[in-house]
Amino acid sequence: MGLFDFFSNDVAIDLGTANTLIWMRGKGIVLDEPSIVAFDRSSKHIIAIGEEAQSMIGKTHKAMQIIRPLRDGAIADFEITEGMLRNFIRKVAVSWQPARRVVVCVPSGITEVEKRAVRDSCEHAGAKEVHLIAEPMAAAIGIGLNVHQPLGNMIVDIGGGTTEIAVIALSGIVVDESIKTAGDELNDAVTHYFKNTHNILIGSRTAELIKCRVGSAMPLEEEIEIEVKGRNLVSGIPEMISVSSEDIRSALTKPVGEIISAVMRLLERTPPELSADIFDRGIMLTGGGALLKGLDKRLAQETSLPVHIAEDPLLAVVRGTGIVLENLSDYNSVLIKSRRF
Ligand code: ADP
Ligand code: MG
Repeated sequence: MGLFDFFSNDVAIDLGTANTLIWMRGKGIVLDEPSIVAFDRSSKHIIAIGEEAQSMIGKTHKAMQIIRPLRDGAIADFEITEGMLRNFIRKVAVSWQPARRVVVCVPSGITEVEKRAVRDSCEHAGAKEVHLIAEPMAAAIGIGLNVHQPLGNMIVDIGGGTTEIAVIALSGIVVDESIKTAGDELNDAVTHYFKNTHNILIGSRTAELIKCRVGSAMPLEEEIEIEVKGRNLVSGIPEMISVSSEDIRSALTKPVGEIISAVMRLLERTPPELSADIFDRGIMLTGGGALLKGLDKRLAQETSLPVHIAEDPLLAVVRGTGIVLENLSDYNSVLIKSRRF
């Protein structure tokens, strides 16, 4: 690595539906913020991104709008997504030099047009060379798997908007499945439970907190009780009620079941030699959703396979994308091949 490389702004980006993380060559992770943008409704001028935009949720006025531009794994608004990417890159870049080389990890379900948009945004931010990589591939590399071997690895990456499941061998994705049931759907299930069972409206941040603190996919050794504040839908008055982890678990039954079914479907589609590898090596869980209590045990029970939660599941993808950036010649074969337009 030459001096020029060391001081360059080459970056690896995990453009997630919930969180964007940036890895800089020679430095590691330099940014970890929610994929959120606050902008002026009429001019589309960006007011804030990331954590700053998140802190404005629920407190905006009419002229302002806050969105998660990648919410369901597809790009909802190209202009806003581009603005978000450009601003994040600028935030971490050494000012006197643009990012020359960028590796971006994208949800595997995005379309050719969306891939083009991501490429273009990076180019507008000054990149001379842009490479794309699929999320489960980056996750596999990020947790230290040797993806080049003739061995099957199953990755289940549960993010905010999408769950991406893939079987990887010989530097490629053999079979995959992407569903729109992930962290956000779990939050929605919590919100619905309070609304339908207790007539209480809770905010999205509260739903997220409840899911992370007491949400589960299997009975817990010690079930937990928590107090939840919300607005009573009948009286309109703020109220506090107590709920148990059992209540929340039953509220999460449907989305958790959908994630498990998707894993089962992909196992059925996996070629037998690779199934045999997965039988020995097990399933790897990555993404923030991997942290749902008991999900690993539940998946192990349903599939009769060993299930492992990655160390730092929220960082797996950016680490993998960073490894690819720093060793590009070894990982050329794992990149998404670009198509001409
Ligand atoms: P993405 O790649 O789509 O941006 P992430 O991998 O960053 O998503 O994961 C974000 C999701 O993980 C969110 O839905 C968040 O609620 C969820 N999450 C984070 N921590 C936990 C936890 N302890 N328990 C359950 N879900 C969690
Ligand atoms: Mg992700």
